[in-house]
Amino acid sequence: MKRLAVLGATGSIGTQTLQVVDAFPGWFEVTILAGHSNWQLLLQQAEKYQPKCVVITEPSAYEKFKQENRNTNMTVLCGMPGVLQALEQFPTDMMVGAMSGAAGIEPTLKALELGIDLALANKETLVSGGSLVRKAQQKTGVNIISVDSEHSAIYQCIEDGTKCLNKILLTASGGPFRTWNKEDLYKVTKAQALKHPNWSMGQKITIDSATLMNKGLEVIEANWLFNVDYDDIQVLVHPQSVVHSMVEYGDGSVLAHLGKADMRIPIQYALTWPERQGNPFPKLDFTQIAGLEFYAPDFEKFPALKLAYEVGRVGKSAPAVLNGANEIAVAAFLKDQIGFMDIPALVQWVVEQHNPVEIESFSHLLEIDQWARSQAQVFVQNRKA
Ligand code: NAD
Ligand code: MG
Repeated sequence: MKRLAVLGATGSIGTQTLQVVDAFPGWFEVTILAGHSNWQLLLQQAEKYQPKCVVITEPSAYEKFKQENRNTNMTVLCGMPGVLQALEQFPTDMMVGAMSGAAGIEPTLKALELGIDLALANKETLVSGGSLVRKAQQKTGVNIISVDSEHSAIYQCIEDGTKCLNKILLTASGGPFRTWNKEDLYKVTKAQALKHPNWSMGQKITIDSATLMNKGLEVIEANWLFNVDYDDIQVLVHPQSVVHSMVEYGDGSVLAHLGKADMRIPIQYALTWPERQGNPFPKLDFTQIAGLEFYAPDFEKFPALKLAYEVGRVGKSAPAVLNGANEIAVAAFLKDQIGFMDIPALVQWVVEQHNPVEIESFSHLLEIDQWARSQAQVFVQNRKA
């Protein structure tokens, strides 16, 4: 039985991870469950999966959980120190990194240090701390399988190797505003941006998908995961979300991964890797697909994607600044403090003030991330004034 630590268990990826666990009785033992504030759901999950340890990162939710929990065999810990302690104390074979945002960086680095394989949904960790992740991975040889559908697709296309690989074709749905005029994007409301056409996801990634920042983060993620130059990562808008990505080889052959827009497929791939297993989830019916379209993204209408490419090429600490600023921008948009098109404007403004340096350590990364967040807050305050 593979022992799993599911971090971000109460979120979209976390709950779907547990659905995959349910589909494979006898395969997995859930050893650690961690969530932020939804203590009620964590309580239900803990009752069902009987983990050795539950961690609640938000202190008042931790208190509530402790009050209501009747299982005395289970260790209950609080905060990020609790997450790190749990990983050290309870033997685990694989950590599912499904927390949102930069909160995923520290536990990911801890798992790498401890030699725990990673099923990594949390792309912000690679964007922000890619160099630290790579260094730590080289030391312990841990496997990192991305749970992002595009990157999972790419793994599957390159299973036979990357010899003669020309480029990665990273598909994007284009988000809810694909066909809108640029002027109208200034009037986008929170409700409109939270409605993704093809995927149901957490709020932060849903907004990132609407600005196409998500695709920008994924370009940087692909650069780290597959060691492919930015010039050889091409984003293709593909509104049907049937082709989850493709790779082109030097002989002109293109391999594609197709499937339903169902995150349980890439989650399962990471969890059962290197084996492929049948599952009861719905399958693609080609007779129901009217057509597949592909075209180039509009960088002018979606400046976040252009910015992410630029920042990725600069490298060093620039992507960490982009990520930290973007997290504040998205949170401010969700609080109606800034407009939709302020999101890329804010991120660009913060990035332009930063002088990129090599990231030396986790504490150094934290400093840079904090700086980016405080600069982003300055932009938000100015907008509010
Ligand atoms: P979500 O908002 O639904 O869930 C986030 C989880 O993280 C929750 O369990 C929450 O309790 C936890 N969390 C939030 N803040 C935290 C903090 N400060 N400290 C510790 N835990 C915290 O998000 P999601 O859609 O499941 O996305 C999770 C990650 O997976 C993100 O990095 C996202 O980019 C990535 N991802 C998601 C999808 C998807 O389909 N949802 C697809 C690809 C990648
Ligand atoms: Mg994706």
